[in-house]
This record gives sequence, structure tokens and C-alpha cells, in this order.
Amino acid sequence: MIYGAYSCYREPSSGSLSGIDEAFAWIISLAHPVRGEETVPLALSLGRVAAHDIIATSPLPRFDHAAMDGFGLSDGDLGRPAPFDLPVVGRVLAGGVASSGLVTGGAVRLLTGAPVPAGVDAVIPEEACVSRGGNVRILKEIALGANIRRRGEDVSEGVAIVAGDTLIDARHMAILAASGVSSVRVRRRVRVALLSIGDELRPPATELAPGQIYDANRPMLTPLLAATADVVDLGLQKDHRRELADLLHGIAQEVDIIVSSAGVSGSDADHVAAAVGDAGGEARTFKVALKPGKPLLAGCVGSIPIIGLPGNPVAALVNFMLFARPLLNARNGIKAQRPRGQAAFVVEPIAHKQGRTEFVPARRTGHGRDGGAEVTALRPAGSARLHPLVLADGLIEIAPERGGVSAGETVEFHTFGTATST
Ligand code: AMP
Ligand code: MG
Repeated sequence: MIYGAYSCYREPSSGSLSGIDEAFAWIISLAHPVRGEETVPLALSLGRVAAHDIIATSPLPRFDHAAMDGFGLSDGDLGRPAPFDLPVVGRVLAGGVASSGLVTGGAVRLLTGAPVPAGVDAVIPEEACVSRGGNVRILKEIALGANIRRRGEDVSEGVAIVAGDTLIDARHMAILAASGVSSVRVRRRVRVALLSIGDELRPPATELAPGQIYDANRPMLTPLLAATADVVDLGLQKDHRRELADLLHGIAQEVDIIVSSAGVSGSDADHVAAAVGDAGGEARTFKVALKPGKPLLAGCVGSIPIIGLPGNPVAALVNFMLFARPLLNARNGIKAQRPRGQAAFVVEPIAHKQGRTEFVPARRTGHGRDGGAEVTALRPAGSARLHPLVLADGLIEIAPERGGVSAGETVEFHTFGTATST
């Protein structure tokens, strides 16, 4: 071994790895969370992983305040039959403070967010009263405590507002900011090396010779990886065993994970598996019963997991979603879960052969009677057809044991790009 005794490689317990779940479990077993942490400003914490539980050092809300624009009343006036009039004895805005407390027989004008003065036991919304000169006419009875947000009712001091190993997204940034947290202890950012392999591939803005094509996979995979990792771009690489071996050997000492596409189907022009071996690592090429999908490569170069996605872009995307992103999540210390879709109704029948799990680009075309999404497959689909992907809202997953899917039946639907997807 070039890298000393440690290899992250494990022999799979099942030889075939043909089911998605068994392939998933084995691929994930190759990754352990990276070590090391750092402190970053909250504003730079998006896509980072909390290294520890983050504990609230203050309650939320911080003080009792009005939940609506209206008038604060005291307990003594709450039981009175409406309508009745009260003198308005004060006014508090959001950001203000009351100069005195309220006693029975008066009302205080309160704007949303205003601290509730002592003696105020409910806030009547302004829609339920009429202001007249210095008085307010109360038109409805309200319950004790109505429209007051109490100190600590959202978060009590000492509670974990963000759990350790959470991938921080916009929601977490909101609660941290509201709690006065301005910097966050996070895991070291994972470095991922990305390469596209194939003699036919050319970068953008270059002339294409006959037989050449532009690289679609790196531009697609870069932003997907960059959401939770620093991407080290290894560019376009030739179908050349020795060159690939040298590259993998060198880069494995600088990154935490390697993601490649193409060159894994086992033909005499596919060299990734052999190159991993030459670089001192070990990898397996296997065929998951997945459409579009097979083949896939996974293994290790020393302690660094490598995943070799199929070359066809749609297959690369599906395999990224199912295997590469969870592998990256595992390296990031986030719980790696097999992605699952939401149940959705199929509007038109979809042909499907038993035996493989199939992912089909589909549009959301409406809502069923019970509110469930209705989806329509975009056909013809294929592992190299990019246009249906951009016309789609997501991917339908059809289980391997199913024959065709009839109209009205349910399938799993994986939507593209929700706000917090990982
Ligand atoms: P391979 O897995 O190397 O046999 O590639 C399968 C198919 O995907 C071939 O038609 C390749 O030209 C195509 N392909 C491979 N890599 C890319 C890429 N980065 N962008 C677009 N197409 C690709
Ligand atoms: Mg190729």
C-alpha cells in the first residue's frame, strides 16, 4: 500500500450489490466523518455542519410582547360584557418600553412586537375595537392571555436550538441569529476532488472536432457538491490508466473524497478501476439494478473514498443523488440516508419493466382530491437525454417489483431542489 496500513475499503458482504439499498449501505460504510473543527461567522455557516449542540443562552421570545396591533387590557376589564369604553392611557411601539404599568379601567395602545407593560393581561386586536378621541370602544370579549407572546414560549434557555451534526440551512441561521449567536463551531469543510473522464470531452468555448462533445457532468456536479464541500476541480481527464493513477495517487493526499464520472463500464476503454488499483487503492465496479444507472464504481484510495459515477449525465445525476451525496454527507458527519420521495399520483400510465428501480423525469401537473401531488412522466426519457430533466419538476421512482404503473396509482416523487435538501 502506498498510503500505509489504513484503507477505508471494506469487502461488501453481498457479492452482487444489485439492490439500491444494499449498494447504498456498502458505499456509505466507506466513509467516516472528517476530523477537525473551526469557528465561522454565522453569515458564513450555510452548508456547514454544527460540530456540537448549540445551546440557547437566552429565551425566545426574550420578553412578553404583543402578537398583534391592538390594545392591552387588564384582568379586571376582561370579564366585562362588551361593548364598553376605556380611556387610552399610553402607547408602546415595537422597540419601545412602557413608562408605567396598566391598572384596571384603562387601555394601552400596543403595536406588534411591543413589550407588554406590567398589568396587561390580554391584547385585543384593533379589528375588535374602535378608537374615539382618547378612548377605545371594546367590541368583543377576549380571553385572558390572548395575543400575548410569552417570554420563552418558543425556546427556553438551555435548550439545544441546533443539534450537533446538523447541516446548517436558512432555518438554523434564523434561530441562531434570533438567539444572538454570531459565530458557530462547525466541522472542517470537506474537500472533494471532481473530475470528468473521457477522450471525447472538451471544455466550453472550444471548437469541437468530429466525435467530441462538451463536458456536461462537471458543470452539473460542481454546484451540487459545493453546497456542502470545497470542490477541487481536476478538470477533464483522458481515458488513460497511467495518467489517472498518478492523478488519483497525488490528489488522495489533498482531499477527503473523490468524485469522477465515466470510464467505469468495464470496457477496454474504461480505466478508472485499474487506475485506483495502480494508485494503491481498491475499488469495485458493480451494476445496480437501476435505470438510468449502471455501472457504478466505489472504493478507496488509502483512507479516501472514491465514487465513479456513470458517464451519461442523467445516470450521473441519479447516482449522485442516491449514492454520492449521501457518501459526502457521511464524510461531513451528517446522517446519510437513502433519499426517499413523497407519495404522488400518476396521471397517465407509465410503462416499466420489472427487475430494476427506474427514475423517470416527471412534471407536477396538479393536485389530487386529497391534496396529494399528481405527476406526469416525461417520455421518452433516457440516461443521456437532458431536455426532459429541465422540463421536469422531479423524478418519479418506480420500484423494481412493479410492472407498469397505471393511472391513479401512487409512486415516489423526488422533487428537484427544495430549500433545505441534502
Ligand atoms: P462512459 O461511461 O465513459 O462509457 O460514457 C458513457 C456516455 O456518457 C458516453 O456517450 C460519453 O460520451 C458520455 N459522457 C461521459 N462523460 C460525460 C460528460 N462529462 N458529459 C457529457 N457526457 C459524458
Ligand atoms: Mg468513456
